[in-house]
Amino acid sequence: MSLLSIVLPAYNEEQNIAHTAEVLSGLLEEQGIAYELVFISDGSRDGTYSEIVKAAECNSRIKGAEFSRNFGKEAGIFAGLELATGDAVIVMDCDLQHPPEVIPQMWKLWQEGAEVVEGIKISRGKESLPHKLSAGLFYKLMSRLIKMDMNASSDYKLLDRKVVDVLLGLPERNTFFRALTFWAGFRTESVQYEVQERQYGESKWSFWSLMKYAITNATSFSTLPLQLVTVMGMISILFSVVLAVQTLVKFLMGTAVEGFTTVILLILIIGGFLMLSLGIIGHYIARIYEEVKGRPKYIISRVTDNVSGNVAGTWKV
Ligand code: UDP
Ligand code: MG
Repeated sequence: MSLLSIVLPAYNEEQNIAHTAEVLSGLLEEQGIAYELVFISDGSRDGTYSEIVKAAECNSRIKGAEFSRNFGKEAGIFAGLELATGDAVIVMDCDLQHPPEVIPQMWKLWQEGAEVVEGIKISRGKESLPHKLSAGLFYKLMSRLIKMDMNASSDYKLLDRKVVDVLLGLPERNTFFRALTFWAGFRTESVQYEVQERQYGESKWSFWSLMKYAITNATSFSTLPLQLVTVMGMISILFSVVLAVQTLVKFLMGTAVEGFTTVILLILIIGGFLMLSLGIIGHYIARIYEEVKGRPKYIISRVTDNVSGNVAGTWKV
């Protein structure tokens, strides 16, 4: 019988763990699906990990790990994929904003041969206006850069074991799970779902964390900003040719004294372009630097007893 693993990254979610575990195990048992739940506490500062341990003691199908510090949701997802042993793996948020009701649909599509089942959002649920706006801006930016519709896509998806192994084999540290499954390809189906309201607690994303996420992901997934630097350079050169001709003509006509405004404007424009370009290039150098250092994506500090192998204190790049 095939096993379904569900990976749930959790950061300061102590109020959600028990409830989510109960809802999921109830649903999967009712559906007769063999399952395991893999909770990854992302360096939580509340009782998230002890809640996971408690849940694991009650139900041997639940296991979990704790990070040595907060490494971010991406790292949580990848650690979960690493610990998951199922033939198919579903990644979902542990705040139940990704409705568990679509799991049987995903499972059915997988049994019919789908290797990736994307969860497609049909509404973003109730969110505060600033969060909606910043998330909106984030997805616009990302969709443009990556050339995929990011607004509807989410981290809620089912992956076949083959796809999981492909993702785990990628050597890069700066991963963007959502886009990587597009990149990997495979036979893809989708299910639609409506984003639910958060059960307890608050969204862990602030405006700045979203912006940072957008820039990191954009630079790790697209080199378009670098090409932008070339375009800006070309525009500057065009301008300078026009101005050079004008300056020369004026010089030859003996009227070259005026033009301080032009000089000031040129210094400002070129200076601005140069600094912006250096900034963009700097971002890529930072990414290269991080990749070259070869540090792991995450460090696991503790695991529940039912995790096979001694993974605590170790990591996976
Ligand atoms: N999360 C995480 N590490 C972080 C931030 C968030 O593992 O640094 C988890 C969080 O516990 C939740 C999921 O990622 O299960 C989605 O986070 P959240 O609900 O805060 O985001 P939103 O639903 O508002 O996009
Ligand atoms: Mg959420």
